[in-house]
Amino acid sequence: SPQPRRLLVTGGAGFIGTNFVHSWCTTYPEDRVVVLDALTYAGNRSNLASWEATENFRFFQGNICDRTVLDQLLQTEAIDTVVHFAAESHVDRSILGPAAFVQTNVVGTFTLLEAFLQHWRTCGQPDHHRFLHVSTDEVYGSLNPNDPAFTEKTPYAPNSPYSASKAGSDHLVRAYYHTYHLPTIITNCSNNYGPYQFPEKLIPLMCINCLLGKQLPVYGDGQNVRDWLYVGDHCTALGVVIHQGLPGEVYNIGGNNEVKNIDLVQMLCDIMDELAIDLPVRPARELITFVQDRPGHDRRYAIDATKIKTQLSWTPAITVAEGLRRTVEWYLTHRDWWQPLLSDEYQEYYHKVYLSQ
Ligand code: NAD
Repeated sequence: SPQPRRLLVTGGAGFIGTNFVHSWCTTYPEDRVVVLDALTYAGNRSNLASWEATENFRFFQGNICDRTVLDQLLQTEAIDTVVHFAAESHVDRSILGPAAFVQTNVVGTFTLLEAFLQHWRTCGQPDHHRFLHVSTDEVYGSLNPNDPAFTEKTPYAPNSPYSASKAGSDHLVRAYYHTYHLPTIITNCSNNYGPYQFPEKLIPLMCINCLLGKQLPVYGDGQNVRDWLYVGDHCTALGVVIHQGLPGEVYNIGGNNEVKNIDLVQMLCDIMDELAIDLPVRPARELITFVQDRPGHDRRYAIDATKIKTQLSWTPAITVAEGLRRTVEWYLTHRDWWQPLLSDEYQEYYHKVYLSQ
């Protein structure tokens, strides 16, 4: 088994971070896992409650822009591996308020790099240290229907404040490898879905609105194409990258599951009809409503994951049909998780994005 690690997981109380912590703590109980999370609207400490009582886990509430906190955690916890999820992650919110995206995604990543660089140098620059930067395929911009999928060599062309801020952070992470030899690795992953995803994102939004008998807002003509990856498959990919990935490398992660938004929503509606006994409106497809398109909405993303498949032997295990079923089942059985998240702030955001046109 691999050498035990001491992980700092930033953003570990968010969607992917939570799934990552659950799978890491289960698979590698000998490893130390320290979560640093600011607990913004998207973070939820109780997601990790089952680990808080265990010896090798620690939760720390703090901001990645706070250098003092970073220095202290890296040193006192003797961290050797940073898994960097913390970010402002929602494109629609980046259109309404981009400043927080530049602050957390660019300045926060820069601050974390600086702190880890100093820590790594202080430790004598050991080979097994890693800085894994978890990023998105949105940095590559938008594809036309017949374009080849994004590879690790595709030039960056971000179109939203979200993807631009992630692109900026990717460039900094890359530069710290080339300039200072800090052992960084970048992963660019397609759209994730699964348990613990905040209600604003497409799949939970549709599940929850079905259950509430509310309209299912689909942007534009619904023909936008996304590649969907079950979050558990993303987490296994991050695991192989941490253990076998090479410093300075970039790995694209994707499910090879290109689906048009409207087709995805219809699949979800059909699963809801089948699994939810108390739907207010049935068939759920009747709730589908086309709304004015998102500004600058990328038409298509597609990931070529050949590199991680051939070099690190990773393949996704869950089909979209299976992953969607699991996800719907989770939202059906976890109303007490998502109901409190539909706060006044959330309703206000929702209104701005979908109803004020
Ligand atoms: P999320 O919004 O669900 O979670 C983000 C977490 O980061 C939250 O717990 C939040 O409290 C925390 N956070 C935000 N700002 C912080 C700060 N300044 N300091 C400390 N913590 C802070 O996001 P997610 O969907 O889990 O995405 C995680 C990462 O994966 C992001 O970097 C995102 O860009 C990337 N990513 C996401 C997807 C996707 O489909 N969700 C796909 C590819 C890449």
